[in-house]
Amino acid sequence: MSGPCSRLLAGCVFLALLAGCSSLGGVRERPSEAAPSEVLRLLVFDCGRIRLESVHLFGLTSTDTDVRELAVPCYVIDHPRGRLLWEGGLPSELAGVDGWVEDRGGLSQRLDRSLVDQLAALGWQPDDVDWIAFSHYHSDHVGAAAAFAGATQLIQRAEAEAAFGADPRRYFFDPDLYAALVDAPKQVLDGRHDVFGDGRVVLLPAPGHTPGHQVLLVNLAETGPILLAGDLWHFEASRRLRAVPMFNYDREATLATMDRFEVLLEQWGATLWIEHSLELFESLDLAPAFYQ
Ligand SMILES: [Zn+2]
Repeated sequence: MSGPCSRLLAGCVFLALLAGCSSLGGVRERPSEAAPSEVLRLLVFDCGRIRLESVHLFGLTSTDTDVRELAVPCYVIDHPRGRLLWEGGLPSELAGVDGWVEDRGGLSQRLDRSLVDQLAALGWQPDDVDWIAFSHYHSDHVGAAAAFAGATQLIQRAEAEAAFGADPRRYFFDPDLYAALVDAPKQVLDGRHDVFGDGRVVLLPAPGHTPGHQVLLVNLAETGPILLAGDLWHFEASRRLRAVPMFNYDREATLATMDRFEVLLEQWGATLWIEHSLELFESLDLAPAFYQ
């Protein structure tokens, strides 16, 4: 990650661009405030929190970790050739409710501001997003999906068959949340997919948590490669203990995927972002700041 000063400066330049400022040397006029950036940028958004009474369902005992609160992030990858939304966070309707909302089975959720509102603060409309991809279709990853039905969805074939097949609830999906995507543009993937064709933003299959779970590798010029690992691990302890949640679709596939990405992380020298790690999330700079 770049130092706080360079990040702050970069953030100021970015804000100036969003505001249509043309006084910066070398900055060309843009057709619209929402034009894609010249360099690759990763922006992080707060798409909610989940509070748990127990970590039992995650294959952990109460003494394995004292973490009981999870972050729910969304990310925008702003590439010269277009904009990708990665993850859709908690259901947008939660933003209309004050504080924590208790869900089934000892789980509470909160969302302080919808993703669409957070994007609007940057001058972006949902139509300014060209591609959407979710690690998987559980409700805490597709909560804002309906707003992006104009974008092209990048989905692994096994996930598409589960999410849009006869019985999505069998996989603990809530099809009402992404009903707007049923007839929306889709690119169904059979494995690795280089989103912009330059090797900098790559979707990789990581099955196990769900049939077509995927992760995203973002190769940033200054920050270096970052693996946005979806729900391959929920907690630091999940990684340390190779703990598999009870609700995973395929336990053996999950373990094989975990092992494969441990090797790849090492090979790439990549930074792992366990998306639900609140400790990690609280250390990140949220949009309008960005990583590049
Ligand atoms: Zn999740």
